[in-house]
Amino acid sequence: MIRSINSKDVTFIIESIAKRVHEKVGYLTELDSAVGDGDHGANLDRGFAEVVRRVAQSKEPDVGVILELTGATLLSSMGGASGPLYGTAFGRAGRACRGKQEIGIADISLMFQAAEQGIVSLGGAKVGDKTMLDAVHPAAEAARQAVEQGQVDLVRAFELITAGAEAGLETTKKLVSRKGRASYLGERSLGHYDVGAASFCIMVRAVFEMLKNMDVPRNLE
Ligand code: ADP
Ligand code: MG
Repeated sequence: MIRSINSKDVTFIIESIAKRVHEKVGYLTELDSAVGDGDHGANLDRGFAEVVRRVAQSKEPDVGVILELTGATLLSSMGGASGPLYGTAFGRAGRACRGKQEIGIADISLMFQAAEQGIVSLGGAKVGDKTMLDAVHPAAEAARQAVEQGQVDLVRAFELITAGAEAGLETTKKLVSRKGRASYLGERSLGHYDVGAASFCIMVRAVFEMLKNMDVPRNLE
């Protein structure tokens, strides 16, 4: 059971996201090549490599500041439509927990709501437009429900958040793209996953798996 995480944990989590993104570049390139320009995997990989460098240097105890730094770094180092969108999402999530050195599920739920709002206000997409929002929205809903149901274990909460995101990704296969580059294809985007929804799933699953690993030594304490 993990009830809260601090800035050191968040730094490890960011490193594991970066590692997982790096391992999945080929998969993301393949998805983006089917309906877009193939740059998403390389964009995200470059962005997170820079995030890891800057976060490690910062030694920042404030979780909010770490995530704001993550957002600002993605904004400045990632290209594509997803750079500003992920940059804004992490930036808003950070702002939502600024001043906290330790965060729990209630904070994390607010961070997901803030990230979702950031993506919507910048990109103007709705659920069903076949974008990252189709994974982000159910993930944020799962976080909100975890709080409502009194779930305090972050491992279990991220299991639910990941399941929500992955179910959302699955829906994108049956949707016609209405935003971004893939929308130029119209009906031809049917049958393909949205690459931004896929990369978001990789991130939340990386968080879930990192938390699961962190839980073992804590249980033995
Ligand atoms: P580009 O399309 O400029 O090459 P990327 O390949 O990095 O950018 O990212 C594409 C992803 O960005 C899409 O799969 C989708 O999830 C997301 N995206 C694009 N436009 C929007 C938008 N308006 N709102 C939300 N997400 C979007
Ligand atoms: Mg692209």
